[in-house]
Amino acid sequence: MMLNESVAIVTGSGRGIGRAIALELAAAGAKVVVNYAGRSDKAEETVKLIREAGGESLISQADVSQAEDVDRLIQTTLERFGKIDILVNNAGITRDSLLLRMKEADWDAVLATNLKGVFLCTKAVSKSMLKQRSGVIVNISSVVGLSGNAGQANYAAAKAGVVGFSKSIAKEFAPRGVRVNVVAPGYIITDMTETLPEGVQSEILRAIPLGRLGRPEDVAKMVRFLVSPEASYITGQTFCVDGGMDI
Ligand code: NAD
Repeated sequence: MMLNESVAIVTGSGRGIGRAIALELAAAGAKVVVNYAGRSDKAEETVKLIREAGGESLISQADVSQAEDVDRLIQTTLERFGKIDILVNNAGITRDSLLLRMKEADWDAVLATNLKGVFLCTKAVSKSMLKQRSGVIVNISSVVGLSGNAGQANYAAAKAGVVGFSKSIAKEFAPRGVRVNVVAPGYIITDMTETLPEGVQSEILRAIPLGRLGRPEDVAKMVRFLVSPEASYITGQTFCVDGGMDI
């Protein structure tokens, strides 16, 4: 149990990649705070799965784009578990369209959740992590943030922002023993990608040398490694989990 006695917050862990990360960290012994913005039923399901497997978990509602919500998430965690060792900034949304049709509201919404949310959560946990002189943060970006993608200028800008943010914070926090890394998934089967038209899915498949879309667990295992003591010499890096795509 590599993460025994560790306390982890995983944002947006009601479903998809976030849920897989929450389950993976709990299976490694971490106490996991399952965060959700809107749908408590899905988050409760994640908590149930963790408890059924013998793990410890707490549910906490917070919209990561709202500073007051984020402060409440951190306070609730500290009151219940007394410390925070791991933060996984996973919550994310898409509002896709070509730039000419992109509404300002779609730009703002994606930047607010996918980039400002990472800033708010990281800042909120940093006080206790820097004080305890240990902690690990993993931010979930996307290969799209590294390669760009037609129809996703807002999403790609936010995800590229996460990479620059993480590299800067990794430098700021390293002297205090706090590590910050990025995982950039390729195409993973979740609600986010399920709606892609059949034609787009087969085109994506052709671009993946390993010949399949990814599973949430593929991403979760990378996160588990990065937050473990085995990765104690790794900070400020971005790791693609994408089946070998050429980006
Ligand atoms: P998903 O839509 O299944 O899950 C996203 C989760 O984030 C949901 O539980 C949602 O409720 C939550 N969320 C959204 N806005 C929130 C907010 N403001 N506050 C708190 N929670 C919020 O998507 P997913 O595929 O599991 O994506 C997880 C992360 O992985 C996202 O950051 C996404 O951008 C990234 N990603 C996904 C893929 C993919 O192919 N699925 C690829 C690259 C990166």
